[in-house]
This record gives sequence, structure tokens and C-alpha cells, in this order.
Amino acid sequence: MPLLDSLKALSWQTALPLFLVENLLVLLLAVGFGYLLQWLFGKGQALGPLYHPVSRQEMWLAACTLLLNTCITYAGFWLWQQGLILIRTDVSYRFILDFLVLFLGMDLAMYVFHYLIHHSVLYRWVHGLHHHYTSPQPIDLFVLHPIETVGFGGLWLLLMYVYPASFAAIVAYLTVNVLFGVLGHCGVEPFPASWARHPLLKHLGSSGFHFQHHQHDTYNFGFYTSLWDRLFGTYASSLTPGPSPVERGA
Ligand SMILES: [Zn+2]
Ligand SMILES: [Zn+2]
Repeated sequence: MPLLDSLKALSWQTALPLFLVENLLVLLLAVGFGYLLQWLFGKGQALGPLYHPVSRQEMWLAACTLLLNTCITYAGFWLWQQGLILIRTDVSYRFILDFLVLFLGMDLAMYVFHYLIHHSVLYRWVHGLHHHYTSPQPIDLFVLHPIETVGFGGLWLLLMYVYPASFAAIVAYLTVNVLFGVLGHCGVEPFPASWARHPLLKHLGSSGFHFQHHQHDTYNFGFYTSLWDRLFGTYASSLTPGPSPVERGA
């Protein structure tokens, strides 16, 4: 694939700024999409207080996450250049298998990592920072302690090392990863209520599913699906939207 060939030939002087811009765009698009969801579903579908002012701490931590994510992207790029991470370029039915391996593999790995953080001293010193926000807003997706940003990034690189996925599946997975992150921190529930009764869709990690975790941190450690929480007995049904949006201070 010519695009991948030219990417692989990039020097670190070119690659690093490119990855910084890429991660910045992802952050801006994610936060923008979160506010778009609030605007679209804020009336009647709000899960908690909306439209809080972004604090200085949230800004600094999001900037730190941006820099670390850039370093993690570069680490993955370097491992790929060295031949330690393989990216397939074939376009075939294996795309579906690749996507499911990345989607469910990362969902399980992050469930375990997240559960362990909650049940160790790391909760107080590391993950408590993210849980300071009981009614998260879009930027809180990036408000993480540096240790957990590196932890989640490390899990992703490990999975890429273990499983050589196709380029298309990697791009699709990374897109879906951001979409679920936005969903979990946008404070509104865009999923129709009927999905909660659908045999397959009810397993997707809705907005209320992660919002519930911010409100009651002994449940819902998964991110994309509720499968692992249901399996390991940590599942609590998602919050349902209140009758009207609650404005901070109102
Ligand atoms: Zn969260
Ligand atoms: Zn947590």
C-alpha cells in the first residue's frame, strides 16, 4: 500500500509533529462531537448536569494526555518500523475478524486494567482523578492521570504486537474507540431506549453505561460493551435519561 510505504519511511522529525497534529485533531473532533450530542439530545436525554465550564485542571490534564498519546502513537510507529508490529494490507473478509479481535480484545484488556486500578492503591493516586468528575463532560474523556494514559496505550501496543491486524481494521477500531469514549463522557444518551431490550444491541456500552460508572464506581468497568461486566458480576443497568436537562447551579 503506497500510503503505508511512504509513512514507514518518515523520519522521527517528520513523524512526531504529524502524530501531534493527528492527536490534536482527534481531541478537537471528539470534544466537538460530544458537544454536538449534548446539543442534539440535551433536551430530555440528559443523564446529569450539562454545560459546565472547563476547569484549568481539565485543560492541563487533557494537554498532558494529548502529548502522551502522541508519544504512544510514535512508539507504535517505531515498533512497526522495526518490524515488531506487523500491519497487514490485505482487503478481505478477515477485516471483520480483525475488527472483532481488536474491539473485544481491547474491551477485555481495559476491563481487567480498569478493575485492577479500582481495587488497588492506584485508585486513590491515579484513577481518582478521572472520578473526580461524577457528571463527566466531553473533555473528561482526556482527563486521565499520565499513568493510566500510558497503561491504556501500552495495552493497545501489546495487542498490536500480539495480533497483526489489517490497516483498515486498525483505522476502524481507533475510530470506534474514540466514538465510545465520546459517548461515555457526553452526559446525554443518544441510544434509543428500545436498544436496552434488543438481544444484541443491549450489550453495547451506552452513554448511560459509563455515566453510571462515574456515579457509582463499583459497577460497569467495561467500555465498549457490558459483556465482561455481565460475565464477572459487576454490571449495573444503565442510567436512564431524566425528564429534563439539569443545568449546573439551576
Ligand atoms: Zn470516564
Ligand atoms: Zn473507573
